[in-house]
Amino acid sequence: MPKAQETVLEIDLKALQHNFEYLKSKFKSETKFLAVVKAFAYGSDAVEIANYLQNLDVDYFAVAYINEGITLRNAGITKPILVLHPQAVNFKKLIKHCLEPSLYNAKILNEFIEIASAEKQTNYPVHLKFNTGLNRLGFGENDVDFIASKLKETEAIKVKSIFSHLAASEDLDEKIFTKNQIKNFETIAGNFTKCIGYRPMFHICNTSGVLNYPEAHFDMVRSGIGLYGFGNSEKENKNFKPIGTLKTIISQIHEIKKGESVGYNRVFKSDAFLKTATLPIGHADGIGRQYGNGKGFVTINGQKAPILGNVCMDMIMVNITNIDCKEGDEVIVFGTNNTAENLAETAKTISYEIITAISQRVKRTYLK
Ligand SMILES: *Cc1c(COP(=O)(O)O)cnc(C)c1O
Repeated sequence: MPKAQETVLEIDLKALQHNFEYLKSKFKSETKFLAVVKAFAYGSDAVEIANYLQNLDVDYFAVAYINEGITLRNAGITKPILVLHPQAVNFKKLIKHCLEPSLYNAKILNEFIEIASAEKQTNYPVHLKFNTGLNRLGFGENDVDFIASKLKETEAIKVKSIFSHLAASEDLDEKIFTKNQIKNFETIAGNFTKCIGYRPMFHICNTSGVLNYPEAHFDMVRSGIGLYGFGNSEKENKNFKPIGTLKTIISQIHEIKKGESVGYNRVFKSDAFLKTATLPIGHADGIGRQYGNGKGFVTINGQKAPILGNVCMDMIMVNITNIDCKEGDEVIVFGTNNTAENLAETAKTISYEIITAISQRVKRTYLK
């Protein structure tokens, strides 16, 4: 691997392939694989990741917003793209780019039918989302009759899938709740199929659903975090490979005397001689202030260097008193050994948050 000469997020596409294949080994070959590539493919690069997965024969993609889907279409992604949380103001653009909306309440269903009809569409593929306990987005079980009657009035749309989302699939203490969500989903999907007279696809599992609820894979599974290398448990993390390594370098080393302070507002004051390294990465790159003041750490020549004082916009200072290193040396912020999840835990958050926070300012490089 080339040594970093600036802050880079190095993305290992072979690790992505490994994760994709591991996930696929968990479900039947006829079950479809939807790759969730929202939020820049969880902070990596949606176009690069989607292109790679398209070549590996993924069946479907999902993004959160319509603009994310348009970016993929403009980059030559041809597989179906589900837009999980579309906004009606962009529906014409969605249709123009052949993106498939998730429709989750009467208002958005009516708005979509109106625009699809005005655009002279027939059987435009849509996905209906039902709420089974997350209480975030979704029709209720009592909406089935209303939706069926709306569908009978129009030729503009056709339901390609019915889906729901699990609230706590990674938390085995919530097994009873999750199994109940799955049961409710099956009932709703069954009723709905009877009402409309054809069988759309059913799906409910995210990554942890794939791993923990094999009985609920249905026709398709939707995986995000697993593709990027996290299994949401110590046991499963071993089966995945984090795809991203965030690297930087040492810009400058300082010797700090007892009683001196480091960084803004003098929050850190030394009570002994120490050495610090200043690194070109800060909260504008995605390392939030919550990692400052001794919580977060980086790795330099295999040793842990805690962040001293406040995180600045473009820099952090780390304690290297006992580390043999020099200006220009490579620094690992997170990677395969000290993972993004380990770093996230120091600020009481989760892998999802730290990886999606890596800002667009950080250069992406690829190992193929
Ligand atoms: C983000 C998202 C997923 C992916 O979840 P992971 O835990 O990352 O696998 C799946 N389904 C929906 C509806 C989502 O919003």
